[in-house]
Amino acid sequence: TPGTPPRPEERPPSSRIDPSVPHAARRYDYWLGGKDNFAADRASGDAVAAAYPSIRTTVIENRKFMQRVTRHLARSGVRQFLDIGTGIPTSPNMHEIAQAVAPESRVVYVDNDPIVLAHARALLTSSPQGATAYVDADLRDPERILADPELRATLDLDRPVALMLIAILHFLPDGDDPYGVTRRLVDALPSGSHVVISHATTDLVPRQIAATAAPSTRSSMIDMAFRGRDQFAAFFDGLELLEPGITPVTEWLPDDAPEQRTPVAQASMYAAVARKP
Ligand code: SAH
Repeated sequence: TPGTPPRPEERPPSSRIDPSVPHAARRYDYWLGGKDNFAADRASGDAVAAAYPSIRTTVIENRKFMQRVTRHLARSGVRQFLDIGTGIPTSPNMHEIAQAVAPESRVVYVDNDPIVLAHARALLTSSPQGATAYVDADLRDPERILADPELRATLDLDRPVALMLIAILHFLPDGDDPYGVTRRLVDALPSGSHVVISHATTDLVPRQIAATAAPSTRSSMIDMAFRGRDQFAAFFDGLELLEPGITPVTEWLPDDAPEQRTPVAQASMYAAVARKP
């Protein structure tokens, strides 16, 4: 109908970028020390940091987890990755890590943020033996992700895939059905596939910080659902958790000696990897 504005995802990316509203991807970039963020994102990031001072350490540790787990899976023979909630490109990106181990690795990146789409070229620098693709889509619509022609041209869903949900599920409140969404994605993957999740929690921080962290994300205009250990574990129902099970993000197969590691309380996120039987 004339006069009906196009739906947000149908507009070109540049016109979908609103610098006055904080975005999760740009705020994450700010916490990581990147440059792809605006004043509103920095204000939102500072509001959370005021209540939860170790947020920067937390996102750095989460990013290190992404690197460790990708390398680990690639070394164990995983060659296909579906990364939902990719974020603004930050070197090294997932395909660079996987392809450094196995150049034939194939990675599909998915994010719903127009700024990530605008930077997607940096994610599409595949090795000649492998492949990468970018899908502009929302985790809350798994069928659309799975049916995407770019995804289908890049991943063979008859062969195992590592589903990477790294620091994204805490952006889905229970009302967005994060467990159902995860289940529908896992159901589409064959036996032998992996599921990797990291997720914000307040379990690991002192009680007074736990009490202010969640309200601070609400007032920062990007609400987050912090989840406890049992709620985190429920994402893996029906799957086989791999060693070392559910751990703080810093403690999942760490590279560093214990005395060199960031203390658990400074990176309050859970991490785990499971295999679909
Ligand atoms: N996985 C990356 C980035 C985490 S930041 C890492 O761990 O380093 C979270 C990302 O999830 C942001 O880029 C944000 O845009 C994206 N995101 C949040 N909600 C989403 C949704 N419903 N669908 C798709 N992407 C989403």
